[in-house]
Amino acid sequence: MSRIAYVNGRYLQFREAKVHIEDRGYQFADGVYEVCEVRSGRLLDSRRHLERLKRSLDALRIRMPMSATALGVIIREVIARNRIGYGIVYVQIGRGVARRDHAFPRPDVPPSVVVMARRLDPARNEMLAANGIAVVSVPDNRWGRVDIKTVGLLPNVLARQAAIEQGARDAWFIDKEGAITEAASANAWIVTQAGALVTRHADQAILRGITRMVVLDAIKAQGLRIEERAFSLAEAYAAREAFVTSATTIVLPVVRIDGRAIGDGKPGPVATALRREFFRHAEVG
Ligand code: PLP
Repeated sequence: MSRIAYVNGRYLQFREAKVHIEDRGYQFADGVYEVCEVRSGRLLDSRRHLERLKRSLDALRIRMPMSATALGVIIREVIARNRIGYGIVYVQIGRGVARRDHAFPRPDVPPSVVVMARRLDPARNEMLAANGIAVVSVPDNRWGRVDIKTVGLLPNVLARQAAIEQGARDAWFIDKEGAITEAASANAWIVTQAGALVTRHADQAILRGITRMVVLDAIKAQGLRIEERAFSLAEAYAAREAFVTSATTIVLPVVRIDGRAIGDGKPGPVATALRREFFRHAEVG
């Protein structure tokens, strides 16, 4: 089946879906994006994803090119045209097309909008979750506002590649104080030996993941102990369990960090239970 993408007002075949060479998203990474999970053809947590999109746009002073309702209609149309049962939808909004100049275009230009969707293999995701993943730690060399979901992801790209070259699947960023901030495209969590769930507080050093928020709700509903605070690599090595959360992977157990087994080296009961519990707390669109 041919794939369809929405690009600046038109639904196009994938091979015809192109952006201008002076699109500021392409030249300066001057844009933001969102990734939303699709299950049974329906969006998960779209309200929160669209709210975060608006926050990211506001932070960069890019205007929302249309109402959230209109954008929602386009997103649903892309899902339907691509017949996505289980997969993801990707939305990117950039400052637009203008003669190359670092300063914002004057007069203002219309923001660029791209929406595309992709099927995911549910069996592959379940297998990853059943086996758990290995991660490696890398220095966090990103800019100071990674709470804004910009398309400027070069450090994340290099971190992920470094992980793969070391036989792992993902990377955990370590800040200058030696604390873990987050993974290359997910939030990082540990379960301490005392049974507390620890994830970094949502400051400007992490993306405030939507899955992270839903998992926090699930943890509260279960009456488990939560600590939103910085935690060190040494603490992670000594943890009973570790896992990551993101819209594409939900809750994914981490069984090795830098080659060291976490707990008994197998997906732990807390991460496995939270993976199931997630769906009771997510909003289905
Ligand atoms: N942190 C980073 C750097 C990410 O890129 C992502 C997702 O892409 C997340 C965290 C998790 O966010 P969410 O749960 O909204 O997918």
